[in-house]
Amino acid sequence: MAVKTVALVAHDNKKKELVDWVCENNTRFAPLTLYATGTTGRLLTERLGRDDIQCLLSGPLGGDQQIGAKIAEGEIDLLVFFWDPLEPQPHDPDIKALLRIAALWNIPVACNRATAEFLLTSAYMTDDQHRPRKPDFADYTGRKVS
Ligand code: PGA
Repeated sequence: MAVKTVALVAHDNKKKELVDWVCENNTRFAPLTLYATGTTGRLLTERLGRDDIQCLLSGPLGGDQQIGAKIAEGEIDLLVFFWDPLEPQPHDPDIKALLRIAALWNIPVACNRATAEFLLTSAYMTDDQHRPRKPDFADYTGRKVS
């Protein structure tokens, strides 16, 4: 079975919700490859007792951009990003960039628990054959630039 790779990110006011949700769905998460931004990853590691979560830099220190780069390189199948709609963030441009790159590369994104539940329980999660269509940027990359 092709193991799906999930990136997990939560802003501070959303970390408890994300970590609780992942714990409640531990069985579904167990076979998945997980990446997370630094602090989210540390909390998940502590709560889940898993030692294989690949923790990147903390979001405001470049972690969001690291996840964006992995999406562009085709390494991430699903982004769960519980961003905080009530709190300004110092790394707002990075957040926007991460959401943009996920949209660009046609990656499923869950920004809240309800959407995350739909995605995690989707039949596509365990379907080896299913891969979202990769966009074709040939027109863009081959465009004439004088
Ligand atoms: P953190 O980063 O998991 O290191 O807190 C999350 C973010 O703010 O992007």
